[in-house]
Amino acid sequence: MPAYKAPLRDMKFLLNEVFDYPKHYASLASGENATPDIVDAILTECARFCEEQLSPLYQLGDEEGCTLKDGEVTTPKGYKEAYNQYVMGGWQGLSAPEEFGGQGLPASMGLMKQEMMGTANWSFSMYPGLSMGAMNTIFLHGSDDQKDTYLLPLTEGRWAGTMCLTEPQCGTDLGQVKTKAEPQTDGSYKITGTKIFISSGDHDLTENIVHIVLARLPDAPKGTRGISLFIVPKFMPGADGSVGERNAVVCGSLEKKMGIKASATCVLNFDGATGYLIGPENEGLECMFTFMNTARIGTAIQGVGPAELSYQWALDYARERRSMRALSGKKEPDQVADSLIHHADVRRMLLTQKAIAEGGRAMLYDAARLADHMVEGHAAGDTKKAEKYDDKLGFLTPILKGFLTELGNEAASLGMQVFGGHGYIREHGMEQIARDTRIATLYEGTTGIQALDLLGRKVLLTTKGGAVRDFTARIANFARKHLTDSRLRPFALDLLKLTAQWNLLTVRIMLAARKDRDVVSSASYDFLMYSGYVTMAYMWARQAATAVNCLDNGGDDSEAFYTTKLATAEFYFERLLPRAQTHATSMLSPSRNLMQIDPENMAFTG
Ligand SMILES: Cc1cc2nc3c(=O)[nH]c(=O)nc-3n(C[C@H](O)[C@H](O)[C@H](O)COP(=O)(O)OP(=O)(O)OC[C@H]3O[C@@H](n4cnc5c(N)ncnc54)[C@H](O)[C@@H]3O)c2cc1C
Repeated sequence: MPAYKAPLRDMKFLLNEVFDYPKHYASLASGENATPDIVDAILTECARFCEEQLSPLYQLGDEEGCTLKDGEVTTPKGYKEAYNQYVMGGWQGLSAPEEFGGQGLPASMGLMKQEMMGTANWSFSMYPGLSMGAMNTIFLHGSDDQKDTYLLPLTEGRWAGTMCLTEPQCGTDLGQVKTKAEPQTDGSYKITGTKIFISSGDHDLTENIVHIVLARLPDAPKGTRGISLFIVPKFMPGADGSVGERNAVVCGSLEKKMGIKASATCVLNFDGATGYLIGPENEGLECMFTFMNTARIGTAIQGVGPAELSYQWALDYARERRSMRALSGKKEPDQVADSLIHHADVRRMLLTQKAIAEGGRAMLYDAARLADHMVEGHAAGDTKKAEKYDDKLGFLTPILKGFLTELGNEAASLGMQVFGGHGYIREHGMEQIARDTRIATLYEGTTGIQALDLLGRKVLLTTKGGAVRDFTARIANFARKHLTDSRLRPFALDLLKLTAQWNLLTVRIMLAARKDRDVVSSASYDFLMYSGYVTMAYMWARQAATAVNCLDNGGDDSEAFYTTKLATAEFYFERLLPRAQTHATSMLSPSRNLMQIDPENMAFTG
């Protein structure tokens, strides 16, 4: 099985040349220590850790999986040792606040770390990834006591975190949550209920696990307005930060699943477990949204990672495997046949993977700057600033999560296709990437729910189309600046047409939805995918503009690197972006064609 190679050249191109992160970091309080040298050293070291420690465990973890014995979960061989290395390297606290033991570096550095770790070994990266969500939630909504008790061990990685929302009867519709929280005289609560599908719900990597749990207080209002958030530790923390007696929360079983087998997905039984309220009563879902937004951007990485990994391996294979002759004449006459890479249709598959990986990475790194500003606003107690950037990021979050994970699945499937029948055979690892990636469009809100969040909430309800107007203004502004350069003009013209179209589509859906409420749901998926293709087009145009500038004025990389960027941008605009028009047509078609068949008549069997 091939190994993962961190795409440091592409990452540095985006950081230093496209988005000017050195300038961005210089503008942040948390960026004081993120000088170019330090960033470079951290990325290099993280790449080494991922290539040498995590990548070799990728296939082994899939084969062995996690095991449950006597109520305790064991991770596959090598995972605990790798996790210890992770803790010793101080990786968990990379962008955590210094006052709680972190290194205080910008949030975006955490995202770059997460991209490399997740691509090398997604299952492994889920353990620290969920802890990050728990840390953010406690940091934002916890009392001073809770912060003092939980943040240091979580930041150090000695303890891990989980996110316990889903129950057998509900995953999306959390208004149906039944888990109960009964107040006790000492201010704590007894938590009782069953949570399913809980990632990292139990494992042997850390000395304690901090569950963040949604539950209902007695007499709480029905639905989402009656849900509160609780901290439920696996072991009760001692006053000195040590680990005390076992709490009444146990792993009842491990889910048997299609992929990410080295990630423990648990049924957790809370049987009068001691919990502590976090945030205000009945506002648990709002507090949990902090957790969910972080997790959703984290999951968007699971679109880019598999595209990158399956591209790397498919590219190697396409260079080595030989089949027939290129239609334009023999390319390797001394060989029995030409290698796959000389066939245009194989190029289509490879370039689609490449365009998704590099275009998706650009989308993430662009958005990560907003996350840096948002986190800085929170840290400084500047609510206005935090909300401003939260809104900007909130618009992009469903696009990143929904669109990139859908395309990540496509890229993983294409990777298998490049291998032909060998892609379906376990040895080469391509089917594992496809299996592992499949979950990304499901958890942290399905694609359908991301689409509703984008169109229904962020675009129509909250901003009346303003979110699209603001974002397209940014794109149009960029495009107008590049109309005069003949190499960039085609990209700029396309972008200008698309920004006008995106606004028009929004208005047409808004008007249609006034007459027919089903329109929001029926148009939402196509609206999400359209938004994704246009956003990725903007990112490819930005990379093309930077490449042109570097070709004219010199850059950090080779001429071949920049001409390849330009050619990939051209491929994206000419071969993938036209898909946006299918989505435009489809989203405007009436909801009637979806709703007119009576549910009874959906199938005629027997
Ligand atoms: C491996 C794995 C790990 C997970 N990890 C965690 C975890 O750590 N913590 C946790 O709490 N949960 C976790 N989950 C649960 C996951 O988040 C849910 O499965 C997911 O949110 C979907 O919920 P559901 O399965 O109940 O599907 P449902 O809500 O039943 O949805 C089924 C389908 O209906 C669609 N749908 C539902 N409602 C609507 C609507 N109103 N309009 C349009 N379409 C709709 C959905 O898009 C979906 O296609 C995990 C799941 C898995 C499989």
